[in-house]
Amino acid sequence: RAKKAPGLDAEPLAIERVAVIGGGVMGRGIAGLFAQRGMVVVIRDLQQEIVDQALAQIRAGFERQAAKRHQTAEAVAEKMARLWGTTLAEDLTGSDLVIEAVVEKIPVKQKVLAELEPLLSEKALFVTNTSALSVSELQKSAQRPANIGGLHFFNPAEKMPLVEVIRGADTSEQTLATLFAAALNLGKTPIVVADRPGFLVNRLLMAFLNEACLIVESGVDWLSLDVRATSFGLPMGPFRLLDEVGLDIAADVGATLSGAFAYVEKSSLLERAAGHRHLGRKAGRGFYRYQ
Ligand code: NAD
Repeated sequence: RAKKAPGLDAEPLAIERVAVIGGGVMGRGIAGLFAQRGMVVVIRDLQQEIVDQALAQIRAGFERQAAKRHQTAEAVAEKMARLWGTTLAEDLTGSDLVIEAVVEKIPVKQKVLAELEPLLSEKALFVTNTSALSVSELQKSAQRPANIGGLHFFNPAEKMPLVEVIRGADTSEQTLATLFAAALNLGKTPIVVADRPGFLVNRLLMAFLNEACLIVESGVDWLSLDVRATSFGLPMGPFRLLDEVGLDIAADVGATLSGAFAYVEKSSLLERAAGHRHLGRKAGRGFYRYQ
């Protein structure tokens, strides 16, 4: 039985079949989490190669976990049996919950929603893992806006405890209660946040990352700044964190926030970096080199 959210009276819907759209940095982590907790999960991306890479990376994560916990190979096989991938939208029919984790651009997210909504049941929920975009804006083009909300996982999704549950203008109480319960069932710490640019965490975090970029643009060496940042207690410096996030995603989040909060002096460093191939860890190189 699903756990209930404090302050939300509606009865959460049961979630058994989950579809994750986008098999990138976040989609992989989110799909693995749901499969780990016993749900049937399908990952959809545009190319079979990306789908295969996503499944292979999730398997490797399950194997590492099994080795640590002295579990058998069957434990991994059992989880992987619930997880599969596709490039076809039709394969998502029958999903109770669709989570989109495609690029951070509202037209792309709107296109995904428009393509999938006709394939889903009346009750199915569609949520976005957006870092900063408006859930209410997404709802405007929806057939069933009450079934739409935000479920914002943090990177890496398998480790980070917090999940922001975003209430759009038309999100129903039942949708919100279901999303809150789903996050609790994953062992996460959900918080309900208002639909404002960057919600809570990225509004704070991007101000910090933008400031780090401004300091570098004023002439300070990025590596020294990154190393110093760890000496005052941060787990990693701002530039290593930007590499983890992906410089294209970070640039898009920065653009949303600087557009919304005009008092922010915006660094152009991320926008310039996002135009290059070296987009961070996912590309094998960003500020740092990987592999
Ligand atoms: P990513 O670039 O790693 O992956 C995006 C994936 O979406 C790619 O594999 C791409 O092929 C796929 N894609 C694009 N259009 C698609 C479509 N129409 N259908 C199916 N797949 C499609 O990006 P990411 O870092 O995983 O970010 C995804 C979302 O999650 C963004 O909205 C981002 O803001 C958010 N997010 C990112 C982080 C982070 O740290 N990277 C953290 C929290 C939330």
